[in-house]
Amino acid sequence: MNIISQLLKNIDKCKLCNQLDSLVISEDSGTRRGLFVNLVLQCIYCGQATSEMSSDMTNEFDDINIRLAYGMRCIGKGNSEAMTFCGIMNLPPPPAKFERYNDILLRRLIKVSSESIRNAVEYTVKNNKNNRANLEISVPSEK
Ligand SMILES: [Zn+2]
Repeated sequence: MNIISQLLKNIDKCKLCNQLDSLVISEDSGTRRGLFVNLVLQCIYCGQATSEMSSDMTNEFDDINIRLAYGMRCIGKGNSEAMTFCGIMNLPPPPAKFERYNDILLRRLIKVSSESIRNAVEYTVKNNKNNRANLEISVPSEK
């Protein structure tokens, strides 16, 4: 964070008061959730501030923590290993409710696999001259 603030001080000026060497970036206290945080860019002279999220959001969940959970799942690890990883990388700890992100991953996996199966069925039916009569196909429904 200090590095980014230093870069901003060197290259930009406040759009409101036009002061050079005036912008600092900091965390919006109380918004941290695992690797996600709201960042505040503020002028030290006039106080003008703007904020931005540190991660894109998908269905009200921050992508950065979903990616952390997904990365851990891909290597067969969970919350405990995520804590160790974040500590070693000098990152904030993973979200307190890390398991929620596994639920999000599971729901997305079910959705993607259902769509994939449905597309495979449509492709097969199309290649069977749009005849479903001789095909034994069942598609799981989404919940
Ligand atoms: Zn200013």
